[in-house]
Amino acid sequence: MRKCFSLKHLSLIELRVLILSIGSVESRVLEALKLRLPAFLPLEEVTISGNVLKVPEDAYDPIRRQYRSSRMLSMISDYRPPVDDERVLGVTGVDLYAPGLNFVFGEALSFRGPAIISTYRLRPEYYGMPTDEGLFLERVLKEAVHELGHALGLGHCKNHRCVMFFSNSILDTDRKGMQLCGLCHAKVLENLKGGIF
Ligand SMILES: [Zn+2]
Ligand SMILES: [Zn+2]
Repeated sequence: MRKCFSLKHLSLIELRVLILSIGSVESRVLEALKLRLPAFLPLEEVTISGNVLKVPEDAYDPIRRQYRSSRMLSMISDYRPPVDDERVLGVTGVDLYAPGLNFVFGEALSFRGPAIISTYRLRPEYYGMPTDEGLFLERVLKEAVHELGHALGLGHCKNHRCVMFFSNSILDTDRKGMQLCGLCHAKVLENLKGGIF
């Protein structure tokens, strides 16, 4: 007997991304994300929120002089509760950490998100190199695609050219590509077919 699926079941969720500043972030960074993210993920719409959330002071560890990324994620969820067809991408300029790691470029919760990235360690100047706007924005985009990939249910990928490859350092970020590999891309489309969120 043939199984019948409704059209809704077979069609992809029309996914929107909301970009949300946590503290002050340069508008050119937000605009670059808005413009370029749809080239790498199946997104219907990318919007920059008109609101800027304050960096939560209770996320700050005065000994590490860094901010706990999980606190940022819970703050984003409180502000904008997760829904099936939207992922919220927080962007911050402060340095982030997660327990057991010296730092993180970003973090995301699986499937519905939210996600956050930090620009702090993506600037060439941080590593004593000359300013390079193109390289900086490329790194921002890679980290954003990576964390949104997690927020769409992807894990880390063993393909070192895939954007879902784990970045242990900025060298890993620079080595990998901006795109999802074929397997990761297929998995995102599968997840967006609905029913699993
Ligand atoms: Zn990751
Ligand atoms: Zn992959």
